[in-house]
Amino acid sequence: MAKLPKSIRSTIDELSRLPGIGPKSAARITFYLLSKPENSVKSLGSAISALKEELKICSNCFNWAESDPCEICEDQGREQSVICVVEEPLDVIALERAGFRGSYHVLGAAISPINGIGPDDIRIAELLDRISANSDKIEEVIFATNPSLEGEATAVYISDRLKQYNLKLTRLARGLPVGGDLEYADEVTLTRSLEGRGEI
Ligand code: ZN
Repeated sequence: MAKLPKSIRSTIDELSRLPGIGPKSAARITFYLLSKPENSVKSLGSAISALKEELKICSNCFNWAESDPCEICEDQGREQSVICVVEEPLDVIALERAGFRGSYHVLGAAISPINGIGPDDIRIAELLDRISANSDKIEEVIFATNPSLEGEATAVYISDRLKQYNLKLTRLARGLPVGGDLEYADEVTLTRSLEGRGEI
């Protein structure tokens, strides 16, 4: 791509680093953007810059937010006595779509010895701290980690650590595709597995 103007090359390079986008798609997107009016390309650029400038991580649930604590943690209309433990921020979006109205705890990943991720590498200590500081207010912890080996192992590991508290510990019902990602689960399946969650 040596003959392409530098700004085109660098846009293709940057885009091809995104998940699921290879060099061909990156080139296609770049030329698509070039064909668009300047305003719409600029608004895409400023939306991307604002992502990191305006967002922070909520120190209570560890989701991305515009304020700390985030809107979800601050919302007294939600069931703050129920914490839904998820692997990633994208899972929060899926559960919101499914109508969940409690609070969240974003672990950041699942325990995965194969990938070198141990219990200390994800936000388990933060969850235990949050629960021990609010043990009189929290009634239920729902494990909504992915229905994969890692997600199951993570749920079991954390629930063992929570046995000392008088909490209802639940896991999303089966019916979610095994090995799948929560974020790709359809709304109906996810809503049903929330409703049919069982104690672990
Ligand atoms: Zn929060």
